[in-house]
Amino acid sequence: MTITFSSFPCTTPFFVSSSHKRLRFNLQSSSQLSPTTTLPLQTPSLPNTGVIVIGAGLAGLAAALHLNSQNIPFVLLEGSDGVGGRVRTDFVDGFLLDRGFQIFITAYPEAQRLLDYKTLDLQKFYSGARVFYNGQFHTVADPIRHFWDSAKSLTNPIGSVVDKLLIGSTRIRVLTKSYQEILSADEAPTIDLLKKIGFSDSIIRRFFRPFFGGIFFDTELETTSRLFDFIFKCLALGDNTLPAKGISAIPEQLAARLPSDSILLNSKVVSIDLDESESPSVRLHNGQVLRSELGVILAVEEPEAAKLLAGKGGPVQKTPVRSTVCLYFTADRNQIPVQDPVLFLNGSGKGIVNNMFFATNVAPSYGPPDKALVSVSLIGLFEDVSDDELAAMVVEELSSWFGEKTVRAWKHLRTYRVGFAQPNQCPPTNLSKNPRIDSGLFVCGDYLTSATFDGALVSGRRAAEALLKDKAFTRA
Ligand SMILES: Cc1cc2nc3c(=O)[nH]c(=O)nc-3n(C[C@H](O)[C@H](O)[C@H](O)COP(=O)(O)OP(=O)(O)OC[C@H]3O[C@@H](n4cnc5c(N)ncnc54)[C@H](O)[C@@H]3O)c2cc1C
Repeated sequence: MTITFSSFPCTTPFFVSSSHKRLRFNLQSSSQLSPTTTLPLQTPSLPNTGVIVIGAGLAGLAAALHLNSQNIPFVLLEGSDGVGGRVRTDFVDGFLLDRGFQIFITAYPEAQRLLDYKTLDLQKFYSGARVFYNGQFHTVADPIRHFWDSAKSLTNPIGSVVDKLLIGSTRIRVLTKSYQEILSADEAPTIDLLKKIGFSDSIIRRFFRPFFGGIFFDTELETTSRLFDFIFKCLALGDNTLPAKGISAIPEQLAARLPSDSILLNSKVVSIDLDESESPSVRLHNGQVLRSELGVILAVEEPEAAKLLAGKGGPVQKTPVRSTVCLYFTADRNQIPVQDPVLFLNGSGKGIVNNMFFATNVAPSYGPPDKALVSVSLIGLFEDVSDDELAAMVVEELSSWFGEKTVRAWKHLRTYRVGFAQPNQCPPTNLSKNPRIDSGLFVCGDYLTSATFDGALVSGRRAAEALLKDKAFTRA
C-alpha cells in the first residue's frame, strides 16, 4: 500500500529577511518530495518542507496566504475532504446548504483586506430583523438604512422608545473606538453590559437574546462584551450578506490564490513532535512523518488543538462550547409567506427555534428557480432528539408563526448538528494571545482572537508573521 504526497510549492532557494540579517535556506537540499512521490505506508520517512500549516479553515488559509506572499515554502495539511473548516457548503438536490447558518458582515476589517467582494457576489439581508412576539411579527430596523421602518417601529413592544435611543448611543460609542481598543477594552458578560447601559428586560429578552444569542450561540449572553462591541461596530458599518455561491465561496476564494499543490486534503495530523530541535515534525494518520524546516502553524479548532498540544502548553478549553443545529426545509417559491430578505427572530421566550429565514429570498441562487430554501437555527445540540423528531417540533412551532397549512407543506431537506460551532468566549478573555507555543511551533484559530470569520483570518496572519519574525531572530 502506498500514499501520495504533493510537494511544497516553492522549489527554489528562498530568503527570509529582517532588519537585522538576511537569511538563506536552501530547501532543495533537503529530502523534498516531488508531486508524485509515493511513500510506503509502513516505513515512516522524514520528508522536509518549509512551514507546515495544519488545518485549512480560514485561519490556516490566512496563515498560508501570508507565507505565500513572502515566498516562504509551506504545505497546508487538512484532515477533511475540503477547505473551509466550519465554513463549508453542500450542494444537495439543487440547493446550497451552508453547514450551519452563517452571515458574512462586509465590514470585517481583515476580510476587507483579503477578500475580493465583487467576485463573492454578496447578497444582502435586510438591515434589521422581524421579531415574533405575542403571536405577531414586529420589525426592528436600522435607523440609518431604513429610517421609516425604524420610525414606525419606535412604539412596538420589542423595546421602549428609550431602548431604541440607547441602540443609537451604543452605535456612537462603538464607532468612536478602534477595533483594537474594542478587543482589549475592560470586559464583562454581554448581559451585564446591556443592563449597565440601561436596556430594559423587554428588549433584552425579545431582541438581544435571540439576535446576539444567535451570533454567539449563547442565549444567556455570557459572552464577553468585547465581542458584542466588535460585532455591533461591524453591523453598524457593514451589511449582512451571503455569497451567491454559498458561504464556502469565502475559503475557496482564499484557497484558489495558493499554489494548487500546496494543500493536501484528507491528511489528518495525529501528533506533533518537538524533539528538542527548532523544527517540529508532524505525524499523519497513516503513519507518515513530515518534518518542517521553519516551523509548524497549528490552525485547528480549539478542542483539537487542546488534544494535539496536550502537555505542550496548548489551550485550556472553556466550557460549555457553543453548539447549534440548523435545519433546512424546501417549499414552493411562490408559496412562502414573505419574499423579504429578512431574518426572523423568536422573541416569544418559548419554543426551540432561535431564528430562521428564507435563504432564497436573500440569495436566489441558494435554490432551484421554483423552490425556496428555509433555514432554521436552534441553539444547543439537542442530542437526545432524533432528526425527524426535531424537524417535527420545528414544523409545529413555526406553524404558529406562519400558519399550519403553509408550514406543513415544507419538506425537510437536511439537518446539520454542529457540536463545536464556536469556542466559549466568556470573560476573562485575551483576544490577542501570543501565537508562539514553543520554538518553531505556533497556533492560530478563532479561539485566539474573536470567534468570527475575521478573528480567524487575523489569527492566521499573526501566527505566520510571528513565525517569520521568530525565525529571522533565532537563526541570526
Ligand atoms: C454554524 C456556524 C455559524 C457561524 N456563524 C458565523 C457568522 O455568522 N459570522 C462569523 O463571523 N463567524 C461565524 N461562525 C464562526 C466561524 O465560522 C469560525 O470562527 C471560523 O470559521 C473559525 O475558523 P478556524 O480556521 O479558526 O477554524 P476551523 O474552521 O474549525 O478550521 C480548522 C480546520 O482544521 C482542520 N483540522 C482539525 N484537526 C485536524 C488535524 N488533526 N489534522 C489536519 N487538519 C485538522 C479541520 O478539518 C478544519 O478544516 C460560525 C460558525 C459555525 C460553526
